[in-house]
Amino acid sequence: MPIYEFVCQNCHRKSSFLVRDISSSFTPKCSFCGSTKLARAVSSFAYHKSLQTVWEESGEPTMHPSEDYYKRPENIGRWTEKKFQQMGQELPTKVKEEIQAAREGVMPEPLKDL
Ligand SMILES: [Zn+2]
Repeated sequence: MPIYEFVCQNCHRKSSFLVRDISSSFTPKCSFCGSTKLARAVSSFAYHKSLQTVWEESGEPTMHPSEDYYKRPENIGRWTEKKFQQMGQELPTKVKEEIQAAREGVMPEPLKDL
């Protein structure tokens, strides 16, 4: 059975669940505060894998000087990733999740009302 990770929208802590079928009527509940407002978390493994794929397919940002480059969904957050990489730091999990979500078409909360 696959393990799914969810981040609580209330206390922002991560809970893991064994879910037989994610498409069924499964309602995750926060293990810490009991809230049912949970969002799927992107596992670090899946993130690294997809990031690797993105880089392999699109190459370095500097190879694409056109201004459309950063508007493409798969390039959202690329600049941020590069900055962190240059500083030799890991992206915070929260940032990773937002970038991943944005690439999948989900804008971070503060941008929705723009
Ligand atoms: Zn919670």
